[in-house]
Amino acid sequence: MDRRKFLSLMAASGVGFMTLSPRIWADDDEDGGATATLFPVPGNTGISGHIVIVGGGMAGATLAKYLRLWGGTGVRVTLLEKAAGYTSNIMSNLVLSGQKGLAELGYSHGTLVNHYGVTLMRGEVTAIDTAGKFLRLADGSTLQYDRLVLAPGLDFDLLPGMVSQGEYDNAIPHAWKAGPQTQLLRDQLLAMPAGGSVVITIPKAPYRCPPGPYERACVVADWLKSNKPGSKVVVLDANADIVVEKDNFLHAFNQTHAGIIDYRPGCTLTHVDSVSRSVTYTQNGASVQVGASVLNPIPPQRAPQLLADAGLLNSPDGRFAAVNVLSYESTQVAGIHVIGDASHTTQPKAGHIANQQAKVCADAMLRLLGGQQPDPAPVTNSACYSPITAATATWLSGVYQYDAASASMKLSKLSASASATSKNYRDMHTWFGTLMSDSFS
Ligand SMILES: Cc1cc2nc3c(=O)[nH]c(=O)nc-3n(C[C@H](O)[C@H](O)[C@H](O)COP(=O)(O)OP(=O)(O)OC[C@H]3O[C@@H](n4cnc5c(N)ncnc54)[C@H](O)[C@@H]3O)c2cc1C
Repeated sequence: MDRRKFLSLMAASGVGFMTLSPRIWADDDEDGGATATLFPVPGNTGISGHIVIVGGGMAGATLAKYLRLWGGTGVRVTLLEKAAGYTSNIMSNLVLSGQKGLAELGYSHGTLVNHYGVTLMRGEVTAIDTAGKFLRLADGSTLQYDRLVLAPGLDFDLLPGMVSQGEYDNAIPHAWKAGPQTQLLRDQLLAMPAGGSVVITIPKAPYRCPPGPYERACVVADWLKSNKPGSKVVVLDANADIVVEKDNFLHAFNQTHAGIIDYRPGCTLTHVDSVSRSVTYTQNGASVQVGASVLNPIPPQRAPQLLADAGLLNSPDGRFAAVNVLSYESTQVAGIHVIGDASHTTQPKAGHIANQQAKVCADAMLRLLGGQQPDPAPVTNSACYSPITAATATWLSGVYQYDAASASMKLSKLSASASATSKNYRDMHTWFGTLMSDSFS
């Protein structure tokens, strides 16, 4: 029986997988102790194989879970992750306003191991030998693969005038990957004087989370209002206009946060000085310099160097990995799949989409392992909630359907909230909890 039909029949009949195929799994948990836990992975589905995944973020964690959940115990999944856990970027703007602590955004890979039987390896992959089909790790070890999935997220470019990534780490955090830079940015906001200015720069699209920078401007402006009176947020956008949710963000900039957010589109950065915290840019042919109490430059982004070294970056701009969106297999190197922000598709670079791509990829890989072809008509959806104040939010959602003529995922429906409301704000937390639990537990 088709796996999806089988799964939905079981769900519809109210029969949980625990009762379907209960078994005991013993493995090391993240604390190092052996645990014995019931887990809902089916036994023999007739599919077997070994899949290696690099990166246990939104895309990689979801993929690891669903390969086991849908593929059964015959499908061995090894997840390589360099960090000790995962910190969600989603909701990390709320760390800046003190509404969330970084620790609240932390997720363990323990459930993937203990509940689904994923093999977790801690380590950084430093090279891919595509001819020999093995990975090289930072500790010098190697790992062979049959099929490989890359889900490593993004790297960040230096901006003109910068010489090292350390400038982001220590002086002018981009905080576009949640972690120590997010805390540094929060600390800098706390320390800035009332009446100061926060400068946020936005790179040209495509970048991770299209509404994210505009959301950040709103969250920071709202916080400044009550905590640093007289302060301003200057937004220097490399794009000619607000990239998404234009009506909602224009309303936020011109009404809700009027007089606090100064939005400047079409700005090309020519120099960033991390010592004096100043930015020089051109707009309409004129060169302008602005100084900041807190400088938050969000840099242009690209797939990590690991993929460049493996010859996988074949998007038109050469910065991302183009894939066949029926299976997320690279169009450059057979047997290697790329999901999440590192891939080049027509879908936004977003955690919700990374989760969706992982499921399409899992389904396709399992079909391929079972001697079938991938689903010829996949559908994905994305959702983004954006806090506008400490109690209101907007949302944007899109549905993408496979279009055979262009061999791409075509936007079939785009919806946005009419305004920022407190109901949206409450729904945002429900959506976030559901998405993260679908990915990590
Ligand atoms: C402020 C902000 C707000 C956001 N809000 C939203 C939102 O509301 N909705 C939404 O859908 N998206 C949102 N996003 C975007 C979302 O966070 C990303 O699109 C998503 O995390 C991408 O998932 P990924 O798996 O591709 O990468 P990541 O989640 O970054 O995961 C990559 C993982 O790979 C690991 N890794 C990298 N290289 C290696 C290596 N060489 N070896 C081993 N491991 C490696 C990393 O440690 C990491 O755990 C937001 C982003 C930001 C910055």
